[in-house]
Amino acid sequence: MHCPFCRNPDTKVIDSRSADDGAAIRRRRSCPECGKRFTTQENVLLMVAKRSGVTEPFSREKIVAGVRRACQGRPVGEDALAKLGQRVEEALRATGAAEIPSHEVGLAILGPLGELDEVAYLRFASVYRSFESLDDFAREIDELRQRAPGEHAPPR
Ligand SMILES: [Zn+2]
Repeated sequence: MHCPFCRNPDTKVIDSRSADDGAAIRRRRSCPECGKRFTTQENVLLMVAKRSGVTEPFSREKIVAGVRRACQGRPVGEDALAKLGQRVEEALRATGAAEIPSHEVGLAILGPLGELDEVAYLRFASVYRSFESLDDFAREIDELRQRAPGEHAPPR
């Protein structure tokens, strides 16, 4: 790893210690050229396995972009989207898995999205739960109604 101060291509590790309850390693490094010190951290990269078999690093931005699309025209702000992205990432990291199927990433979005906006939730669920008919929507709407009975407008 090169020195972030002088770009010298070689730096020396002077100390390594376990961090985050063993989920990471932190290394103190020093640059023989400029003498400055800095710290690096090594973690397991959370990877997402796509249906094609290709894996790519988990991206919170991608989650937020997908949810933003589902929220088009809905009263959902950027703050709420960012919070949702953080919740999804935390939930996925808490599983301790190094690789998560993209389908499960979609399912992990559904819970927090259902709390955020029901219409966006249905748009998203129709993709990730592979809705095929109106019955699928009707069943999901019934479940939404049962989940949060107090939060719905009274029938007209
Ligand atoms: Zn340096």
